[in-house]
Amino acid sequence: MLSDPAAAAWVAAGRPAVDAPAPVDGRCGRCGDNGPTVTSSRIISEKFTGFDAWPFGSRRLCVPCAWAYSRQPTTQPSLLITDTSVTEYSTGADLAAVLTSAPLTSTQAVVLPTARRRHILPTAEWGHLATDGLVVTWDSAAADRLTDLVWLRTTVGATWPQLNHSAPPSRLLSAQPADQWPRVLSAWTSLQPWRAVPPLWAAARVLTNPPQSR
Ligand SMILES: [Zn+2]
Repeated sequence: MLSDPAAAAWVAAGRPAVDAPAPVDGRCGRCGDNGPTVTSSRIISEKFTGFDAWPFGSRRLCVPCAWAYSRQPTTQPSLLITDTSVTEYSTGADLAAVLTSAPLTSTQAVVLPTARRRHILPTAEWGHLATDGLVVTWDSAAADRLTDLVWLRTTVGATWPQLNHSAPPSRLLSAQPADQWPRVLSAWTSLQPWRAVPPLWAAARVLTNPPQSR
């Protein structure tokens, strides 16, 4: 089932084998693919709690899905996956150029670790940003919001503690030319839906962190 970003990443990686006994035919519990499968217990920690998210019942995994789970969350880099390639990014902020420029297309998917406690690659979906605990459509509104956030952090100089508030502090505003105030206020307000979703707000922070705090 190569329509899945995790499977596309597996192909781009050269179809690596996984550390498990030889696969046997079965149905993948995560993606539903019928074909060679391995038992998930050989791949996934006993502490894994995500089985409820597997719609196909079995605790077997196809090789691409097993591979997607075989990398520990702590070592997962940020990724831009396309139907033919995978690009790794050493910091999430390096993905901001991609994510501010346009919506993700139906042949692009982004994996963005923040807390590094969960497997994110297996949750990736085309046209979506997948981060710890959330998979969200990356549309033009998201690209515009991220553009606003980059502008507020870099040009305006807003700090992250300031950005946590629903309105800009008056001293930040008064330090800007008056003709910029409407833009500062509208950009600040546009971020409110993201502030309300902690995993998304954490992702937004990682995507816009300046180099010194990476
Ligand atoms: Zn699978």
